[in-house]
Amino acid sequence: MNLFDFIFLTTWLLPLAGAHENQVPLAENGPTTTPRVAIIGAGIGGASTAFRLNELTKLSSSIEVTIYESEPNLGGRVKSIAPENSPQVVEAGATHFFTQDWCLRTAMEGTGVKERRKDPLALPKSSGLWDGKELRTAPKCNGDSMSVWDHARLIWKYGISPWKFRKSVQSALEKWKSFAGLIPTFGSAVKELEQVGLSDLVLDSAEGYLKNISITPHFLTEVVQPCTRAQFSQNLENEPALPALVAVAASKATSIEGGNSRLVDRMIQLSGVNLQLNSRVTRIGHGYHRRYRLSIVRNSLKDSQNLRHADFDAIVLATPLWSSKVDLSDLHLQSIASISQYVETHVTHFATPANISPKFFDHSLNVTIPDDLLTTASPSHDPDLLRLSRSTIRFRRGCLPGNDCRQFDTEYLYRVLSRSLIKDGDLVRMLGQQLEGEYELSDYNISWVHRQFWPHAFPQYGKDDGLQEKVEIAPNLFYLNGAEEIISSMEMSCRMGDNIAMTLYMQDWDHGPA
Ligand SMILES: Cc1cc2nc3c(=O)[nH]c(=O)nc-3n(C[C@H](O)[C@H](O)[C@H](O)COP(=O)(O)OP(=O)(O)OC[C@H]3O[C@@H](n4cnc5c(N)ncnc54)[C@H](O)[C@@H]3O)c2cc1C
Repeated sequence: MNLFDFIFLTTWLLPLAGAHENQVPLAENGPTTTPRVAIIGAGIGGASTAFRLNELTKLSSSIEVTIYESEPNLGGRVKSIAPENSPQVVEAGATHFFTQDWCLRTAMEGTGVKERRKDPLALPKSSGLWDGKELRTAPKCNGDSMSVWDHARLIWKYGISPWKFRKSVQSALEKWKSFAGLIPTFGSAVKELEQVGLSDLVLDSAEGYLKNISITPHFLTEVVQPCTRAQFSQNLENEPALPALVAVAASKATSIEGGNSRLVDRMIQLSGVNLQLNSRVTRIGHGYHRRYRLSIVRNSLKDSQNLRHADFDAIVLATPLWSSKVDLSDLHLQSIASISQYVETHVTHFATPANISPKFFDHSLNVTIPDDLLTTASPSHDPDLLRLSRSTIRFRRGCLPGNDCRQFDTEYLYRVLSRSLIKDGDLVRMLGQQLEGEYELSDYNISWVHRQFWPHAFPQYGKDDGLQEKVEIAPNLFYLNGAEEIISSMEMSCRMGDNIAMTLYMQDWDHGPA
């Protein structure tokens, strides 16, 4: 065989002989032996994994990272939207985190994003509680913003329960601060919980745990539950104890200037990863060139060109398995968090110069509706409101050339968190009117509406659900969102991403297939 025949045979004929429908194009696998990591999901968890991994490896460029995101945008449940003609952004997903959340704060420093100067949701002017029958004085979910008078009033009304509860909150927060922070990496979230002394707060529902420490049912339903409904869209029986305590955290709430999704954008941008938007991972199987093979469909392509495959040495699953529907049936997995259900939530924003009418709640009610209205669980709520809060928004309207375009109209911006869909008729009823067939929302002074439906907003506590033993559910396959069962928050996803990045960095890489 001459040299020409040899080159022809090795470059064209031999690969064709082994070709099959799942043939992996070389470009998908990278020409080098550099370890290849795929992150599935570009929410705060995926972003934090990528960002931290880049920080750890940037001097050596020793790991190649690709992020697959099924949506056209980054952020996942962190979603900041910019209403047309307004300089402001509105949070359709996660609204805030706490000043003591060290992982997010470190990420802010590393990316240069700034804290939002004034968070309207964190500092409501007046607050109230609707219990299905009457409007009452509201609990303050953020203990830090309570005055001595607020504390005294609670103790007068509920006896020793508020004091006991506050003690539990402080102790839980102290321990939560250390979670994922004591040792650089942890392989088991369950062991890490034991290590920091939080196990008992995740094994029981908030209701079970708090009743056990003799907090009175009244205090639970009138003070604690409205806060968990407002924060996690759930009643106490469906929430583990830890998030319920953190929901009333004694620390200041904060958010990102320009919108929380800026943090996700910046982390991914600075990490220099190969970002594949509109790319849904459908399956993780055994690899051909490397340990794992991903099957990916592109939203934008026609069916025939749609399915692609790519091989990786390690995978980070940075999305809840429930919603991602990634097929893992080929793999032999360690125990996975058996979250039995996620709650769905609707977030509706609307702008209007009008006040909310008390008649929406009850025809005989004649009071001013407060800026931040929490609710207790009541079967009579229709639609089932979890929180109704008011801030302001500026719009620039009708700015024609030659006009002074610095002029803004200021309107109220309402944010409604609800279990059921808020229809146009509900919005108009909130303003004390009835929607007539031929009219539009603008006829009722509603200038802007945005509806966001979250089918998998938060995991629901189930007493038979098992906690995920290991973060690494198969060799080099990490499941970030198993930890959501402990607490579902931006900070938790950030800490898990941090932890997985560190584990990957310290990995002794084996490039071959399993
Ligand atoms: C209404 C609401 C309010 C909230 N408020 C707060 C709050 O105030 N403070 C707080 O800390 N937390 C809050 N949370 C919770 C917080 O938003 C989440 O815990 C956190 O954002 C989860 O981030 P994540 O990256 O782990 O997951 P996600 O944000 O869910 O990201 C997963 C990503 O993976 C993508 N994906 C899914 N399947 C696939 C696939 N097969 N292939 C490729 N990509 C895929 C998704 O499109 C998504 O972008 C709130 C959540 C909701 C819904």
